Amino acid sequence: MDKRTVILRYHEIALKGRNRKWFEQRLATNAKRLVSREILGELSGEKEKISATLIDGRILLKAPWTNETRSALRRLFGLTSFSAVRPVKTDPQALVSAGIEALEDYLKDHEMPERFRVRTRRSHKALSATSMELDTLIGSAIKTKYPTLTVDLKNADFTLGVEIRTEESFVWSTSYQALGGLPVGTNASTLTLLSGGLDSPVAAIQILSRGSPTSFIHFHGVPFVGDQVLDKICRLAELVNRFQPHTQPLYVIPFGNIQEKIALAVHPKMRTVIYRRMMIRIASEVAKKIGVLALVTGESLGQVASQTLENLSTINSVAEIPILRPLIGMDKDKIIELAQRYETFSTSIEPTLDCCTLFADRHPILRSTDSTALEQERKFSVSDLVAEALSGMRTLGGRTGDPLHPIQ
Ligand code: ATP
Ligand code: MG
Repeated sequence: MDKRTVILRYHEIALKGRNRKWFEQRLATNAKRLVSREILGELSGEKEKISATLIDGRILLKAPWTNETRSALRRLFGLTSFSAVRPVKTDPQALVSAGIEALEDYLKDHEMPERFRVRTRRSHKALSATSMELDTLIGSAIKTKYPTLTVDLKNADFTLGVEIRTEESFVWSTSYQALGGLPVGTNASTLTLLSGGLDSPVAAIQILSRGSPTSFIHFHGVPFVGDQVLDKICRLAELVNRFQPHTQPLYVIPFGNIQEKIALAVHPKMRTVIYRRMMIRIASEVAKKIGVLALVTGESLGQVASQTLENLSTINSVAEIPILRPLIGMDKDKIIELAQRYETFSTSIEPTLDCCTLFADRHPILRSTDSTALEQERKFSVSDLVAEALSGMRTLGGRTGDPLHPIQ
């Protein structure tokens, strides 16, 4: 396949002082992994050689310039923008020709722009001409060739980018915005409690955006809810996995029978909070087993009855590791906007039954305390139910290259 040079730009990671090289290498590796996975699919045998080279403040990726590549780069945390570039000799005449060719390339699938500008940046002072002089030189050559174009520095509908470097320079016609954040793998790993709603997939991706890989745990209301829910959870985990270089597993805990036992034992108004405490206890055990440092949930303060500050704090008190709640201060509109940006929205809104609505009271308690919860938990054996849950756990997917498979 025809390969192009793609320049990858980053921002925040440039600030990381002594760790900078390590961050850059991680970003380069993630770029290769995300792009090759998108192009080749998970199970493709023959590896297409996609290379990524660090060059002083930028990464040069050699990859096919396709929709798949662009889509993968749009999910690459740590990247601020990217462009397919023409590498060119650092010489004024060569730059002029490359500028015209880049515009001609652009015109193959765009209309003729009206107002344009040239933006030169000198990363190295390899030429004696200033950036402005180069803008003028290249701009007037373009204008001579295409006289309908006018130069407009403020409201251009076409910007030709030029970057001057010692060895070779780059010229491009389009810059694509990316997500920013930190490269996945520059922070320790987490475990996301993934339910079928809008919030938890967004929470997982927000945590990825801070560099922390995440695996998934789902509490499945089996036998009271069917495999249809699990199929949806698997697809949501796959959507989140598209943002991380190594696909991570989904741990499935059979939870319906456990909920039934809790429901029979505790006060109806306390059921939801007790379910949540059980989920956190079980997830903490799994986290210890797989060696991750924190849990992640999609909770947002006050969004539903179980998310009052009192209830969050009752839930929190059984956690053995920190619970990260990246959506805590977001309202639903913001979460929906993110779900759309991350492309989890349409899967999340498919109607399915969540296990938390099983045996739930219509008016759950709003202001629980740790001691009222403990009082209820004396009515059944917490440790037996945690052990029962862990013994029924199944692991789906996870080895790099393996897709998550819905269970038959
Ligand atoms: P979501 O949209 O993520 O389902 P929600 O608004 O429905 O969230 P709750 O149902 O109260 O809120 O759940 C709060 C959080 O608890 C979820 O975001 C998720 O992290 C976790 N959670 C709830 N149910 C489950 C489940 N069955 N399995 C795993 N995690 C769950
Ligand atoms: Mg939910």
